[in-house]
Amino acid sequence: MAKDHPNSFTAGPDENGRFGDFGGRFVSETLMPLILDLEAEYEKAKTDPDFRDEMARLGTHYVGRPSPLYFAERVTERLGGAKVYMKRDELNHTGAHKINNVLGQIILARRMGKTRIIAETGAGQHGVATATVCAKFGIKCVVYMGTHDVERQRPNVFRMKLLGAEVIPVTSGRGTLKDAMNDALRDWVTNVRDTFYCIGTVAGPHPYPAMVRDFQSVIGEEAKAQMMEAEGRLPDTLVAAIGGGSNAMGLFHPFLDDPSVEIIGVEAGGKGVDDKMQHCASLTGGRPGVLHGNRTYLLQDDDGQILEGFSISAGLDYPGIGPEHSWLHDVGRARYVSVTDDEALGAFQFCCEREGIIPALEPSHALAHVMKIAPDLPRDHLICMNMCGRGDKDIFTVAKALGMDMAEC
Ligand SMILES: *Cc1c(COP(=O)(O)O)cnc(C)c1O
Repeated sequence: MAKDHPNSFTAGPDENGRFGDFGGRFVSETLMPLILDLEAEYEKAKTDPDFRDEMARLGTHYVGRPSPLYFAERVTERLGGAKVYMKRDELNHTGAHKINNVLGQIILARRMGKTRIIAETGAGQHGVATATVCAKFGIKCVVYMGTHDVERQRPNVFRMKLLGAEVIPVTSGRGTLKDAMNDALRDWVTNVRDTFYCIGTVAGPHPYPAMVRDFQSVIGEEAKAQMMEAEGRLPDTLVAAIGGGSNAMGLFHPFLDDPSVEIIGVEAGGKGVDDKMQHCASLTGGRPGVLHGNRTYLLQDDDGQILEGFSISAGLDYPGIGPEHSWLHDVGRARYVSVTDDEALGAFQFCCEREGIIPALEPSHALAHVMKIAPDLPRDHLICMNMCGRGDKDIFTVAKALGMDMAEC
């Protein structure tokens, strides 16, 4: 057990936002008052019945919660071992788990009287979810996106524009997610009064990692109750894909103090973790450092320069990982593995053909790991994997990777 939380893995972070040696708030003096104000407002909202009611009501009627816990019978049959359940968060409005968090942050922003929302986005999924909820409430939305990602993710740029958001291309650095996040932080400092920064994963300075985790924990809370209903007991193994780590933290957190539940996070192994820079496995292939206001495992070179990750899945392409995962890794409560692009592609096709579900490439990584472990486990072993997004956005990438020409279909 962790030395600082002897009785619980769910007690963190401490008052400084630390999970063991990770997390915290490494920010400039100008940013400090903003995050302290945010923390105070979030602490109030968290226990306010009005806030909770609004979250629950919109969760049901706008997002479509609860998402089903689905027994993947034909996947299970083919793998020939453990029973595989999928938590169907791909059925949420906008097609992924991101909206759980965005809804929470924007309801909070409205309570704080903020009239302008800014966000960073990489693949564009968080940008689309933010633009969606801003449109629903009639709030101004500005999304920072690296120029490289704007090129790669045109359909999502168009979606954000349809939803009324302004998309600002970021040219600094290599023009990817890391740079977009830096520019969003700069915007926040210059527009303190009216602006709320909506971060898309369990990263950033405290209180973001804990706050985003809390908003995503609806996934694990539902899964726990649904598994009790389906099987009369807890799952034996949880599996989720990790970019920044928010869908995984959301599934894992309600189970951290259930010692019988094995917890596995799956990082993007790209072309293979042995191949320097051709992957995004921050825990498997990185080391601790400070990025975006918190201390965590990062992909970096010998001089501490942050490296660009590589993955077939743009949504897993972040050089860091949420600090709570770094801590869970170090104290041994969760295990982190990696899966290559090719393995994820195989799982993508397997899921389409055996279950009639086109998964996003991110959860295809989780399924690829399930495919490795399920055959050797007994038939009464219960696996719950997070199907955190649908794959419509990925069909062009998959067609290209499989050498198929859509024009000839
Ligand atoms: C954004 C995204 C991810 C990666 O983000 P996490 O914070 O690690 O969850 C994974 N899956 C899908 C479908 C996404 O859209």
